[in-house]
Amino acid sequence: MSTQTRIPSLDLSGPVEALWPELMGAVEKVLRSAHYIMGPEVAAFEEEAARFLGARHAVSCNSGTDALVLALRAAGIGPGDEVITTPFTFFATPEAISNVGARPVFVDIDPDTFNLDPRLVDAAVTPRTRAILPVHLFGRPCDMAGVLGAAARHGLKVVEDCAQAFGARYHGKAAGTLGHAGCFSFFPTKNLSGFGDGGLLATDDEGLAQTARMLRVHGSRRKYHNEAVGCNSRLDELQAALLRVKLPRVEAWNEARLQAARTYQELLEGEDRLVPPGIGDGHVFNQYTVRVRGRVPDRDRVRSRLEEEGIGAMVYYPVPCHRLKVYGQSHAGVACPEAERAATEVLSLPLWPGIDRETQAQVASTLRRIVREG
Ligand SMILES: *Cc1c(COP(=O)(O)O)cnc(C)c1O
Repeated sequence: MSTQTRIPSLDLSGPVEALWPELMGAVEKVLRSAHYIMGPEVAAFEEEAARFLGARHAVSCNSGTDALVLALRAAGIGPGDEVITTPFTFFATPEAISNVGARPVFVDIDPDTFNLDPRLVDAAVTPRTRAILPVHLFGRPCDMAGVLGAAARHGLKVVEDCAQAFGARYHGKAAGTLGHAGCFSFFPTKNLSGFGDGGLLATDDEGLAQTARMLRVHGSRRKYHNEAVGCNSRLDELQAALLRVKLPRVEAWNEARLQAARTYQELLEGEDRLVPPGIGDGHVFNQYTVRVRGRVPDRDRVRSRLEEEGIGAMVYYPVPCHRLKVYGQSHAGVACPEAERAATEVLSLPLWPGIDRETQAQVASTLRRIVREG
């Protein structure tokens, strides 16, 4: 047993301490304003987020999941439609597709990036296909040239799941501004992290933005004149005020994540059974995810040994979506061998902006030792 202090998979305390007076100032301002829903903080945050991303419109809402649902609905996706997506993602991605009444169609991932492989899209298109929903997983931009090319060939919409990629860039443009709409999450583990749930949809399409705004307040543009069955999905004033304090720092935090990823690359080099992630262009490392090569229970053994040594490592994700119980019957024939293999090999190491080299060195040396034991 190690006597060293525990290293968590994620430490959220840094920004809270560093920004305490500003965060408290934001809280006080909102509490004293007595304006708690859809007030000036939400409007200002939407404007600032749109400017940061380089999008014409930003529509905030209650979660990243809701941003996906609102974007799909506003893009006209519904019952009978098919949406092509990746099986190697958080369940919220296909869940949003199912929740608008459409069917998720899973295509396999590129093993080098963990992202949807656009070369597989053509073969998955049917007369019902309406959209592609790529995910910029772990903060690495998906091959959007490939996705947009396939979408253009087949006349499909593109909705980006950027929940793990706030601030990521693809050929200089922000992830989330390449397709018809981009969906972000402010869940505490994300790159722009709130103090609770929150989400946002970015788009250049004015009609789509207006429809999403209408849907998020019970399907009404004018109060008590409801025109659609929408939902209640608003970002709180309090959350918006706190996110406004953090937004100007997100670029520096993303840079710190990238630096920490580079440090891991160096510390883990030359270990045969560990495959480090590549560093993509515009990559913002929401997670630093290695592959543990070996026989199947090996990754799980490594993870529990790390846990015994006081190091938190996470498995995102142990079951590819097409193998989840919920889709077991409807997607019984689906084969995505790369996603299935990734699910048995991935291990995300402790990473946050400001993690110090000493902590990373301890993670790396412990991991190397454990991998050699096996
Ligand atoms: C976090 C996440 C979501 C959902 O965001 P919430 O704000 O938690 O609803 C969707 N997709 C991916 C890939 C995520 O990581």
